[in-house]
Amino acid sequence: MARETSRQVQFVIKISKFCNLRCTYCYEFAELGQRERMSREQLRSMYVHMRDFYVRKDQEDGVRTHLHIVWHGGEPLMIEPDYYWRSLEDQREIFGDSLEVSNFVQTNLTVLDDERIRLLRDGFDHVGVSVDLFSGLRVNIAGRDQQKNVVANMERLRSEGVSFGCITVLTRKNLGRVKDTFSFYEKAGIGFRVLPLFDGAYENQHEAYDITVPEIVSALNEMVDLWLESDTPVQVSPLDSHFQIVLRHLNPEAPRVYFNQREWISVLVVNTPGDVYAYGDPYEDPAASLGNIFTTPLEELLSGPRFDASATAAETRMAANCLNCKYFGACSGAPIASNRDNVHTVVEGIAVCDVERSVLEHIEDRLRSSDVLDHDGRVRAAAGPLVDPVS
Ligand code: SF4
Repeated sequence: MARETSRQVQFVIKISKFCNLRCTYCYEFAELGQRERMSREQLRSMYVHMRDFYVRKDQEDGVRTHLHIVWHGGEPLMIEPDYYWRSLEDQREIFGDSLEVSNFVQTNLTVLDDERIRLLRDGFDHVGVSVDLFSGLRVNIAGRDQQKNVVANMERLRSEGVSFGCITVLTRKNLGRVKDTFSFYEKAGIGFRVLPLFDGAYENQHEAYDITVPEIVSALNEMVDLWLESDTPVQVSPLDSHFQIVLRHLNPEAPRVYFNQREWISVLVVNTPGDVYAYGDPYEDPAASLGNIFTTPLEELLSGPRFDASATAAETRMAANCLNCKYFGACSGAPIASNRDNVHTVVEGIAVCDVERSVLEHIEDRLRSSDVLDHDGRVRAAAGPLVDPVS
């Protein structure tokens, strides 16, 4: 495998659970009234632990780490912008030039004023807006749908020169509107991520709008077809990375990639009290926490028995799925190792890679039946937007 010169790690920071909405599917539902937030000093200790760990690791490995800090909640913009400006100042002081750092924020975009627009434009590097378009499930405390307000605020962001992407949660309520969803983003020229509904905060929370694995696969496959047919395709995640996997699979000279959590863990979640979880581990189960990043060096969190148990669980999922998968190597195994988005079928306690594998098959079938591939099954040189950036 070619030696990397840069790599990414993402920390999803649950800055506070407090939120002005009560989206019916929210997995934080029980905690949305809690106003506790991380303090400036706690964030400073977290930055110091991140810096100490990654700078040393970069020196050992001869690789540069790009640190992604994702401000998440609750609703992060319920907190006054000054709080973030001070923390961004702390980042500059603590990280200096030692690491490349980008700040992302995931917002419901219902609260927007001049100060928040300035923060989104000049403080953060990337803005993600949560909007479902056709579900009616994103409601305020009084149960009123906030869609109109959000779309108006998206317009305002555009007119103020703030670029953003969107996340749309796929539920039974918008399952029949895949085409309309795609068209909305295509016309607006906005990239988006499709996030299938996953476990809620309590039993039966999703009863009225839950979706099955075959329904998720069918919606994602429909999205693939729409993307392939589009004259002005926008970025659709995770399909963009699925296309890359299939293109690597079709190119025997493309480098092979293998996920190994013990070598590099690329997504970690930090809960409001500072407890850290590997992405895909049962979030907020104290037994799954790797420890507290406010008080403990990252070196210790990413070693020891809890980390070992998390890595072993990831390896077990990969062994059960990837070793007999034709995409293994083109796909690193990360989707099932990190139990991505928690929407897989579980058989005898082990998640089955039934979503990704089916969508990869569909993409491969579509490419094979189009004129994008030559007679050897390899991508033609002039195949438009389907260029594998890895090969
Ligand atoms: S089983 Fe899933 S995660 Fe593993 S290589 Fe295949 S598609 Fe990737």
